[in-house]
Amino acid sequence: MQDKLFIDGKWEKPRKGGTIDVINPATEEVICKAAAGTSNDIDHAVKAARIAFDSGPWPKLTGAERARYLRAIAQKIDERRHALARLEVANNGKPLSEALWDIDDAAGCFNYYAGLAEELDTNAEESIAIADTRFSSKAVREPVGVVGAITPWNYPLLMVAWKVAPALAAACTIVLKPSELTPLTALELGRIAEEIELPPGVLNIVTGTGPDAGEPLTEHPLVDKLAFTGSVPTGRKVMMAGAQDIKNISLELGGKSPFVVFADSDIEKAVEWIMFGIFWNQGQVCSATSRVLVEEPIYDAVLKRLTEEAAKIRIGNGLDEGTLLGPIVSKGQYDKILAAIERARLDGATVATGGRRPAGFDSGYFIEPTVLTDMTADSFVWREEIFGPVVCVMPFSDEEEAIRLANDSRFGLAAAVMSEDRARCERVARAFRAGVVWVNCSQPTFTEAPWGGYKQSGIGRELGRWGLANYLEVKQITSFDADEPWGWYIKG
Ligand code: NAD
Repeated sequence: MQDKLFIDGKWEKPRKGGTIDVINPATEEVICKAAAGTSNDIDHAVKAARIAFDSGPWPKLTGAERARYLRAIAQKIDERRHALARLEVANNGKPLSEALWDIDDAAGCFNYYAGLAEELDTNAEESIAIADTRFSSKAVREPVGVVGAITPWNYPLLMVAWKVAPALAAACTIVLKPSELTPLTALELGRIAEEIELPPGVLNIVTGTGPDAGEPLTEHPLVDKLAFTGSVPTGRKVMMAGAQDIKNISLELGGKSPFVVFADSDIEKAVEWIMFGIFWNQGQVCSATSRVLVEEPIYDAVLKRLTEEAAKIRIGNGLDEGTLLGPIVSKGQYDKILAAIERARLDGATVATGGRRPAGFDSGYFIEPTVLTDMTADSFVWREEIFGPVVCVMPFSDEEEAIRLANDSRFGLAAAVMSEDRARCERVARAFRAGVVWVNCSQPTFTEAPWGGYKQSGIGRELGRWGLANYLEVKQITSFDADEPWGWYIKG
């Protein structure tokens, strides 16, 4: 199955026959070979999705009927929870405990959007009060059509769920292009779609590289909407490709999110949340709070405890009991992170702890949890997304300075603030130019709440009812209800 594509309800070999090595980042071994889909396969998949949308049964089903499919997917994910989590660990490297969390979240996402699909049966239409009483008007929400969904490798199945679940709930059909680094759980979703007899063409999965499979999907004229999660440079290309046909587009991109810790905070709680904000998933989290700003009176104490605790994190294969930090996803990412740490050193930053490959690891893309200090606010490491277990810590003197430093970024995905003073937390939360703000914590994410960024961190929102709106068009239907003639040209 791994070396096949899921198109129009069937598994088929890619037309050009190529494969991509799928690697376990903890061992550097090739686990299997995935199909290398290309533009011909994308064309076939998009046409299948187009037919399924234009003339298949799917968009004609009621929301309640679609909800049954979504719940069946959730149930199948839940039934094979352990197998899927182990596959995620083998392919992405993350600790098993985190992978189990992701799989549960993915199942929860399908269940949540099943509920919203049901609600569409009663809330898809809304009458509009208009001043001219000769007319009546209503707004009708309808599926946007064929969706091209492109996902990254950091939460392989969960990022797929964030797109596929609301798109199915909205009655769209989909061509999914998962990351070439982590295609395995997305392919399992294809198997689940087959088992629950999702109508052919509703969900198509084409594995392959960005240039060979992703790009043709973004350029395909029969695709109505592009839903992309990934880096800013790729997001820019996706947006430019989509501009050709003025496609509906949503982008979830990168970040360099700040975490502002005020001096009245409990130091142990602050250190725990700072660590959760950057070391979870090896720091490969778009919303990772990788720029930590600590108010001067507690800066030294926070830094001391942070470096002590970071150095204690258990590093290992994600399948080993007690592992809290696995390998980086790929050799490419591993090299990029080490190069960024080296550049930070050359730019004058201090490596307070970490910064290297951990001792005793001969294979696997492991990097120690790394704490950097003494960088300037215009340095590369402070400004650019490293996407690894690397946190920059900087002192600040007052609230105004903290907000200024926090917002001084081209990104605006997330931000966090910690203080015992709730009024200050609220003030700072409002001042952040970011789409997601955490108060006295960092990273907890809930399916019901909107997710997405300001500035270069993206366009649109996923999750919650905003995530469903991503896949719906709004149509106005206005009727002239009066008996008298309009009488503009033809005078009665
Ligand atoms: P990436 O941009 O390299 O790749 C993302 C996806 O795009 C992959 O499937 C890739 O194959 C595909 N792709 C690459 N080139 C393409 C092209 N020219 N046209 C179409 N598709 C193409 O990103 P990545 O390395 O997989 O993921 C890491 C990035 O994703 C980080 O910057 C991170 O912040 C971001 N991210 C954001 C969120 C969020 O919700 N905002 C979530 C996870 C990851």
